[in-house]
Amino acid sequence: MVTILDRTAAPEPKRVRHPEKAHRPDTEVMRKPEWIRVKAPTSKGYAETREIVRTNKLVTVCEEAGCPNIGGCWEQKHATFMIMGEICTRACAFCNVATGRPNALDPDEPQNVANAVKQMGLNHVVITSVDRDDLDDGGAEHFEKVIFAIRAASPGTTIEILTPDFLRKPGALERVVAARPDVFNHNLETVPSNYLTVRPGARYFHSIRLLQRVKELDPTMFTKSGIMVGLGEERNEVLQLMDDLRTADVDFLTIGQYLQPTRKHHKVVSFVTPDEFKSYETVAYTKGFLMVASSPLTRSSHHAGEDFARLKAARAAKQALAG
Ligand code: SF4
Repeated sequence: MVTILDRTAAPEPKRVRHPEKAHRPDTEVMRKPEWIRVKAPTSKGYAETREIVRTNKLVTVCEEAGCPNIGGCWEQKHATFMIMGEICTRACAFCNVATGRPNALDPDEPQNVANAVKQMGLNHVVITSVDRDDLDDGGAEHFEKVIFAIRAASPGTTIEILTPDFLRKPGALERVVAARPDVFNHNLETVPSNYLTVRPGARYFHSIRLLQRVKELDPTMFTKSGIMVGLGEERNEVLQLMDDLRTADVDFLTIGQYLQPTRKHHKVVSFVTPDEFKSYETVAYTKGFLMVASSPLTRSSHHAGEDFARLKAARAAKQALAG
């Protein structure tokens, strides 16, 4: 008897999202406190944003990182586009973005992002990316193309970029700054003592220097950085990090609660209370940041449009005071 197997309908083998974490023991999951409550993504605006993202074949960090604010943000058509694919070459212990060997860059992506920005009528857009250590320029040219395409399609839209660290990619940062985004954001993510376990592929002082270099290259550009708390950091370390960012003349600091994407990710060491977030905010303002967003659900792209308007107003007020 001959058996003919029909393989045409066989499902694709499921890709392991974080191969480097698969062998790790499960971490303990802490119960979320009552102040971490998020809106379920069910609104009409959410569905419309989802449709625009799908039609233009785009990837968002909102979905890939499992952001808790997606219901509220997408309802208001605030999405953060993640360019250069959905596979990251780093393997940070906190991040839910898939890791592995990325695909080739999509040459249509800059125009697709620009089309989506126009369709959504965005006044302000945030563009981020996966780390692309495999590319000679770390993806700097692609960032530049995306910025130029958005400018051409929607000249009134302000552009915020949230970049990787371009470690060992000479000339990459300069190229991206020369494309003149309105806000340059690069997240430190955590305090230096956590880097080996939380952000092992990165170097704390390289990230500080990158932010400082942006200001040297273009003193008018707004700079921004963010961290997660609840990863075992000490309060004094957070205060030192604020000083380091001010040394680099960073304008805007965001601080939010780390939430664990899966049991294979870094555990939540503590849930920082709303009062502690408020205290960080107060201290950060005294250290000279133009703007600070500090709350359990703060994410670096949350309310980015409104925050950009406040950031500009804060700089104008400071300049007026200085005479
Ligand atoms: S906070 Fe940022 S990443 Fe999260 S849903 Fe809103 S725009 Fe997306």
